[in-house]
Amino acid sequence: MLAECINDLLPQTQCTKCGYAGCAPYAQAIAEGLAPINRCPPGGEKGITALATLLKTEVLPLDETCGRHMPLQVAVIDEQYCIGCTLCIQACPVDAIVGASKLMHTVLAHACTGCDLCVAPCPVDCIEMVNVSPARTWTREDAQTSRQRFEARNERLTRPAQEPQRQESAKEIGNAVAQALAKARARRSAAATP
Ligand code: SF4
Ligand code: SF4
Ligand code: SF4
Repeated sequence: MLAECINDLLPQTQCTKCGYAGCAPYAQAIAEGLAPINRCPPGGEKGITALATLLKTEVLPLDETCGRHMPLQVAVIDEQYCIGCTLCIQACPVDAIVGASKLMHTVLAHACTGCDLCVAPCPVDCIEMVNVSPARTWTREDAQTSRQRFEARNERLTRPAQEPQRQESAKEIGNAVAQALAKARARRSAAATP
């Protein structure tokens, strides 16, 4: 199937920078002629060329409204500020963050795709994206591993037995965030008192 062949050429970081919910929906949109081939910043020029070859179409420059092609990055959590809210775990499409509610979290560097989806949800801004050192490029094997992790995560999340646990953790996250915000408000008000 064409969409599957297109998906095989995408980097599988599931970063959503193309404007779709992941690599597979973007592949589907390309296959249906609903999206151009130049919306994937992680794939960059190389990826666009591969898609153009497959589809026998012209090579387009990367649409930088989706983002720039960057060196491979990895997320790093400054654990001294982490409040253990688990929001980053929920945002990570490939289960590359480990931790438990109210405990510090850490990134499994070997599994991180550099998608940066964990950065925005962190209520205390303690996640930073840094260039992988030594620098290296994202390989087809990386993409395959990432896809497997993404599919395993989706499978885990759709298991019915997980539902009560998810509801419970959502409650815990809400409480942890509320506590963090209350602490932040208390700090601000103490700082404002002469
Ligand atoms: S890796 Fe490319 S195709 Fe996949 S979600 Fe990110 S931008 Fe979209
Ligand atoms: S740890 Fe952050 S940057 Fe790395 S894969 Fe997960 S969400 Fe993306
Ligand atoms: S989102 Fe930020 S504060 Fe919450 S668990 Fe992740 S790193 Fe810690």
